[in-house]
Amino acid sequence: MKTEVLPVTRDSLERAGVLIRAGELVGMPTETVYGLGANALDAQAVLKIFEAKGRPADNPLIVHVASAEEIAPLVREIPDAARRLMDAFWPGPMTLILPKADCIPDTVSAGLDTVGIRLPQSEAARALIRAAGRPIAAPSANRSGKPSPTTARHVLEDMDGRIPLILDDGPCAVGVESSVIDATGESPVILRPGGVTPEMVENVLGHVRVDEHVMSPLREGDVARSPGMKYKHYAPKAKTIIFEGEAPRVIAAICARYDAALAAGERPAILGFDEHDFGARTRISLGSERRPEDAAARLFAALRELDERGETLALCEAVDMAGIGLAVMNRMGRAAGFDIENV
Ligand code: AMP
Ligand code: MG
Repeated sequence: MKTEVLPVTRDSLERAGVLIRAGELVGMPTETVYGLGANALDAQAVLKIFEAKGRPADNPLIVHVASAEEIAPLVREIPDAARRLMDAFWPGPMTLILPKADCIPDTVSAGLDTVGIRLPQSEAARALIRAAGRPIAAPSANRSGKPSPTTARHVLEDMDGRIPLILDDGPCAVGVESSVIDATGESPVILRPGGVTPEMVENVLGHVRVDEHVMSPLREGDVARSPGMKYKHYAPKAKTIIFEGEAPRVIAAICARYDAALAAGERPAILGFDEHDFGARTRISLGSERRPEDAAARLFAALRELDERGETLALCEAVDMAGIGLAVMNRMGRAAGFDIENV
C-alpha cells in the first residue's frame, strides 16, 4: 500500500472521510499527538488499528467526537462530575472514561465495560470527524512501544506502507497524549496525566486523585486501571536515565556521567534545558526551563532523535512536576523505566 501525506484542505478532508467510512485508517492530526483513526463503530476497521500498530488487543482505544452532543449514544450515563469536566475542558486534551453503550465494539474498549471519549481542540481533527460523519477511534499513530508521533513525518516513519493517508497539520501544539480521567463515578481519578493538569481539575471539582502508578512502574500482580500503563512505552533504544535535584548539581552529575560514558566508548546525549551550560557535549533541547510546555512539545521528538542519531545513553534533566510537568515526567519516567537518580 502506498501512503500519501497531504496537507489539511477541503479535498484531503473529504478523501479522508471517504476512507474512514470505507473502513480504512487515516493518520490524523490532533493537538496532543498524531492519531491513527478508524470508524469507531466498525469492529473490522478498528481491528486494522491494532494490526498496523502491533498493539496488544487488551489496550483500549479513545473515541473522538466533533461535538459534546455526539457522546449521548456512545455512553450509558454521564455522571455530574463528568459533565462539569466536559464543560470546563472540552474541546481539549482530556479523555473521560465513561460506561460504554452497546454500539461501541468490544475491540475498541478491549473488552472493558467502559469507553474513553475525547472532544479534541484541533480544528483539523474535528473537521475530519465531521467529514467522516462517524466517531473516530484513534490511539497514537506510532508502532506499539515507540514514542508517540508529534509530526506527520513521525507517523510516516512508523506507518509507511501500512495506511493509505496521513493528514499533515504541522507539529502538535501540546505534544503529550491527553489526560485520561476515570469519570465513571462522582470522584474522578486521573489515570494518565496530560494537558489538563491535576491543578485544573481540582479548580473545577474542588478535589482530585491521581492514580499512584503515574510516577511508578506497575509491579507483578498490580491491576492496571488504565491498561496502557502496563506496557513498555516511549522507550528509545538508548539507555535512559533521569537526574533530579538542584540545577547546578544535576548539570554537574550529567556532565560527569557523560564524560565517563564517552571515555568508555558509548554515545551519550543530554536532554536538557536551554538555560543550562553543558559545554560542547551533545544536547537535545527540552526548551526553556521556565516553560514546561516546551518540554511537553519536544519530548517525543527528542526521544526519536536519540534513535536516529544512534545514541546509546540518554541523560535527561527532570522537569518540575507542577502543571503539565507531571505529564512530561510520567512519559520521561516510562521511557527511562523510572530510572531516576536524585543528586
Ligand atoms: P493512546 O490513544 O495510544 O494514548 O492509548 C489510550 C490509552 O487510554 C490506553 O492505553 C489506556 O491506558 C487509556 N484508556 C482508553 N480507554 C480506557 C478505558 N476504557 N479504561 C481505562 N483506560 C482507558
Ligand atoms: Mg499510545
